[in-house]
Amino acid sequence: MNDERVPTSYVLVLWNQRGRRVRVGKLGLIRFEEGFYVYVGSGGSNPLRRAQRHLKPTKPRHWHIDYLTTGPRRMRPVDVHLMPGRRECGVAKRLAARLPAVKGFGSSDCRCPGHLFHASGLPLLLEVLAPLLGSPASG
Ligand SMILES: [Zn+2]
Repeated sequence: MNDERVPTSYVLVLWNQRGRRVRVGKLGLIRFEEGFYVYVGSGGSNPLRRAQRHLKPTKPRHWHIDYLTTGPRRMRPVDVHLMPGRRECGVAKRLAARLPAVKGFGSSDCRCPGHLFHASGLPLLLEVLAPLLGSPASG
């Protein structure tokens, strides 16, 4: 399967029960506010496996997102959506129009401001995700 020809992105939703600071690799110490964080990633050649990886509490920390999804104080994964036919930066661009990005998070290899976004509450999260997940492939 060639992931360049058939891109699949995924959206991972994390619940941050309380505000906290987390050291995220080379990005350093970052403040994360209470609420939800929406992460956009590339599914690679096995999107399901990639998405499931985030749900495991124990794993080597390889990507920025691993610093939030690993260990006893991790943010809780509450939702994940595979998005066949969508490129991650296209999805990130749409999210960036509505939600603040965490600067540089997950976007080391592209020009996006970030691939992680904060939604302060559930109503806002649902409002932003509904049209994104419901619309036809375009990005
Ligand atoms: Zn990007």
